[in-house]
Amino acid sequence: MNNKQTKFIFVLGGVISGLGKGIASASIGYLLKGKGLNVTIMKLDPYLNLDPGTMNPYQHGEVFVLDDGSETDLDLGHYERFIDSNMTKNNNTTTGQIYESVLEKERKGDYLGQTIQVIPHITNEIKSKVYSINKSNNFDVVIVEVGGTVGDIESLPFLETIRQIRIEQGKDNVFISHVTLLPYVDASEELKTKPTQHSVMKLREIGLEPDMIFCRTSNEISKSVKDKISLFCSVSPSHVIEASDVKSIYEVPLLFHKQNVEDLILNDLKFKTNKSNINELEKFIYRFKNPQESVDIALCGKYTELPDAYKSVLEAFIHSGVENNAKVSIKWINTEKLESSDSLKNELDNIHGIMVLPGFGDRGIKGKIEAAKYSRKFKVPYFGICLGLQIAVIEFAKNVCGIKDAYSSEFKDTTNSVIDLMLNQKNINKKGATMRLGAYDCNLKMNSLAYKAYNSEKILERHRHRYEVNNNYRKVLESNGMIFSGINEKLDLVEIIELENHPWFIGCQFHPELKSRVNKAHPLFKDFVKASINYKKNNVK
Ligand code: GLN
Repeated sequence: MNNKQTKFIFVLGGVISGLGKGIASASIGYLLKGKGLNVTIMKLDPYLNLDPGTMNPYQHGEVFVLDDGSETDLDLGHYERFIDSNMTKNNNTTTGQIYESVLEKERKGDYLGQTIQVIPHITNEIKSKVYSINKSNNFDVVIVEVGGTVGDIESLPFLETIRQIRIEQGKDNVFISHVTLLPYVDASEELKTKPTQHSVMKLREIGLEPDMIFCRTSNEISKSVKDKISLFCSVSPSHVIEASDVKSIYEVPLLFHKQNVEDLILNDLKFKTNKSNINELEKFIYRFKNPQESVDIALCGKYTELPDAYKSVLEAFIHSGVENNAKVSIKWINTEKLESSDSLKNELDNIHGIMVLPGFGDRGIKGKIEAAKYSRKFKVPYFGICLGLQIAVIEFAKNVCGIKDAYSSEFKDTTNSVIDLMLNQKNINKKGATMRLGAYDCNLKMNSLAYKAYNSEKILERHRHRYEVNNNYRKVLESNGMIFSGINEKLDLVEIIELENHPWFIGCQFHPELKSRVNKAHPLFKDFVKASINYKKNNVK
């Protein structure tokens, strides 16, 4: 039974969106975990979708998939990477989910006789979601990030709920942090505090006051600016935190630590705790800033103008770069623009490793197939994730096995669908939450590249796709030199492919990027970067 008082830290945002509330929340989480506390982080998203699974990456960035198969906001990726713990579906709630459960209860008759209203029905539901995260765990601290910006109509029920939680739990047990922007005006050469003041006024309208303000800024904040924010927003100057731009998001906890953020918060929450522990992160940042090697890796995909669409891949390259003492430079290649082999050769000429990114739909497929062919022929390290595996199989079937019309049934009907829907996907009509999602077992072949990377026979990796390698073609692919080095034995599905006579060619049906963490780079990413460094050493004169 849970009998200790859990503390709640809410992280709200003002002025504009995209200020990095997710990273602020994750950084606070990191610092509190370093104090020896049992911490979790959850996100409340104000939109009406049940989850981001059906949204375009341009709307929402990457969809972050958890072990339990839930499709969540990309901030959950930051939480997992920073506090190094696996989240569950309870860590992300949307307004859509809140309404869905209230309406289900209404139909069941749980509220018989009542008029269903935002207050109390919706707010009670939000409250029970926040409290229920603690049911099976005894967390010392629950950090709750609220998506959107204070003043948005959509987030009002969440803010009202926080007001109620503060009364129910007592002020000593609830801490409100507000992330805002201090714009710098060139003409007058000063940082402006007015937008922050206004967003705090918006908070007050609903009965909330911030306990700490994180000021996002490109400039240093002077004492007089801090004093001004303190005066107008009723927080002490020590609680006005400079959240300036840093080279790496992993520096943010260090920046906060320098300003005693964790001690100030815990002191206000009347917590007695141990000394802070930030050594690991300090070492990580030192290595990040002092690389010994450098490699250029091409990322071939469709949403190349929007790095948020591949957030976890980029983070995994940071982790694996550091563990290889290397700076990984990314070259984005939009494969829609790259359909001829000549333009491809120009693009890939000085590249030391090629990744074909995950994706959906047939745009840019030809260019991706060309990229896989290039790396197979010229023995450049290849790493294909999900669609990237499927592309490698199509390319190999076409150009090595001679199956000219080999393709995926996702893109068009063909007699040779080397990538195809499994039976259990064929009768699915609904799009939301119906892919192969979440953690699945995979057995690795002894002495394969994958086995060497993981140093284990059995792995568990996260999935998000509908299509699979068609088992009818396994024999012909294998007899021509493709190795199926990872298999899900229960479902008899191919999880990892490799190539004979290639120094490093791996495609995986799952998403390894979702499990890479600071100081625990994912083994496949780590090995791919290593192979790319070796390729550079052996091939660049
Ligand atoms: N579109 C492919 C599928 O659904 C690959 C998905 C992905 O890359 N995540 O199987």
